[in-house]
Amino acid sequence: MRGLYIGRFQPYHLGHQAVLEEIAREVDEIVIVIGSAQESHGPENPFTSGERMEMIYAALGKGELRKRCIVTTLQDINRNSLWVSHLQSMVPCFDLVYSNNPLVIRLFSEAGVEVKKPPLYQRDVYSGSAIRVLMREGGDWERLVPPAVAGFIQEINGVERLCQVSKSDSASSADSAMHSSKETDF
Ligand code: NAD
Repeated sequence: MRGLYIGRFQPYHLGHQAVLEEIAREVDEIVIVIGSAQESHGPENPFTSGERMEMIYAALGKGELRKRCIVTTLQDINRNSLWVSHLQSMVPCFDLVYSNNPLVIRLFSEAGVEVKKPPLYQRDVYSGSAIRVLMREGGDWERLVPPAVAGFIQEINGVERLCQVSKSDSASSADSAMHSSKETDF
């Protein structure tokens, strides 16, 4: 039996890891799909699909779980009604899907694919957006991701990239800072 787990993994965190371990108790193999593969270098999607793949492999380590996982990537398409067929045409076969994302659940259910909702692990804390906020604000994000993922993000200067791509151009030069002091929308 093969399960599919799709996410943006921006970044891959301990909530994702807990879900993966839960799935591994129920199926023999897991297809991990890195969605929105075309996205990177943005405030919501700072990491490339290749970097996210490195994070997942780093978190899986070299143990038994890694041997049971197939990691692949998938670009978005602009038509939700065709997305499940698009995914099925691009990734290895699977028997059921694990997701808590309402749109993903809806699209697979309408296509007649079985979907299971894994338990939520402190979703307010273990969430990509909360972790990106901590990264931008100098908070303690490292404890929310597997240690190997924290090491990888540091290696690629991921926090610096996120901070830089989250700035607006009006905040990036002293000249515009002087001008912006006259603006009223700050
Ligand atoms: P995500 O990384 O936010 O989450 C991945 C999965 O983990 C989700 O099911 C989420 O609910 C679950 N999760 C996260 N934190 C958790 C926690 N603490 N406890 C338990 N579960 C937790 O990714 P996502 O946004 O759900 O990824 C969906 C992907 O599918 C996106 O890339 C999206 O673009 C893609 N998609 C594309 C189309 C299209 O192209 N038309 C349509 C639908 C979905």
